[in-house]
Amino acid sequence: MLSVAEALARVCCAARPIEECIGIPLLDALGHVLAADVTSSINVPPADNSAMDGYALRASEVGDALPVSQRIPAGTVGAALMAGTAARIFTGAAIPAGADAVVMQEDCTEAAGVVTVSVPVSAGQNIRPRGQDVRAGEVVLGKGRVLRPQDLGLLASIGCAQVQVYRPLRVAVLSTGDELIEPGSGELPEGRIYNSNRYTLAGLLRSINMEFVDCGFVADDPDATARALLDASGRADCVITSGGVSVGEEDHVKNQVERLGQLDLWKLAIKPGKPLAFGRIGHTPFIGLPGNPTSVFVTFCLIARPFLLKMQGVTEPEPLRLLARASFTVDRPGTRQEYLRVTLQNAEQGLQAVRYANQSSGVLSSVSHSNALAVVPAGVTVQQGDSVEVILLDSLA
Ligand code: AMP
Ligand code: MG
Repeated sequence: MLSVAEALARVCCAARPIEECIGIPLLDALGHVLAADVTSSINVPPADNSAMDGYALRASEVGDALPVSQRIPAGTVGAALMAGTAARIFTGAAIPAGADAVVMQEDCTEAAGVVTVSVPVSAGQNIRPRGQDVRAGEVVLGKGRVLRPQDLGLLASIGCAQVQVYRPLRVAVLSTGDELIEPGSGELPEGRIYNSNRYTLAGLLRSINMEFVDCGFVADDPDATARALLDASGRADCVITSGGVSVGEEDHVKNQVERLGQLDLWKLAIKPGKPLAFGRIGHTPFIGLPGNPTSVFVTFCLIARPFLLKMQGVTEPEPLRLLARASFTVDRPGTRQEYLRVTLQNAEQGLQAVRYANQSSGVLSSVSHSNALAVVPAGVTVQQGDSVEVILLDSLA
């Protein structure tokens, strides 16, 4: 059996990042991946400015009654401050030349055009210095970054209206199985189940801003499978299938991919999961996930997702390693690394992981009603209160 880490290293080593870029308006850029470093041509803020509504003055002149020589609202530029005077100033307004501090209005009294300050004042007080957020010439965000809401704001603050991003990856999804019917196509006939993997995978792909290329489902038949795989490979940058990669005689994906390209079939040391196929159809990368709905979720998140992100040009930081206290036991050591579906809760001693009762790989409710995966390595047992590593589902989808 192949460890999760080894499988991940192999797929990521084979991932060729796409090079096609597009320019898009900043407002449409959420979730896209920067295709080039973004450098700022300006300082942010562009000038020293006031952090308060109050009075701009020279700290050394505090104690004297200072005539108010000008009024500087945000958006206007004041004149140089005459010695022995103060300027009425508002939050965000540029500090006039000569002033070196701002005193907030609550600490001042103004009467007949003269202000007196009732507190000690030091130079630099309440002044936001020019360039404290971003310096001109600085790389603000690097190539390979997935743009988050705060990144859009940061790019706007340097005057950027358009960004160069990688074209979103097109990922074809094909479900296999004679037993499948689509929700919406009538009542469930005996012996059949609704195709759920198609929807899970569509959601997972869209949540990482990739294009879901819907290839529907294909019956358990060698020729139909070959045709569907070929069609999928012509429409996408990567093909993902679910089901049909076990060793049964109804599992045709493996043989057909071997015919059309090249395939490695791995027994992964992962639970839920286990069979996972990786190869190519022609030149199009191919990942064959297992069929069980929970295995699909887990193997996609742990193996396919990092592979696709690398193809998409994402430079991902190492995932954070979070720890929680187990409120469950694992009495018998397993031979595969297990990803238990758990709910993390705030408890007095910190995070607590509560195990979903039914961990069967066919029970998709275990994923829907959990918010994390608890990682239990092969050969390990867990006692109540032990520390276990957890991965937040929100960080995966
Ligand atoms: P397989 O690997 O094709 O033998 O599938 C393993 C299990 O997953 C079987 O119980 C299938 O019925 C189930 N399964 C496969 N594909 C899907 C799907 N698209 N949606 C829901 N269940 C599926
Ligand atoms: Mg099947």
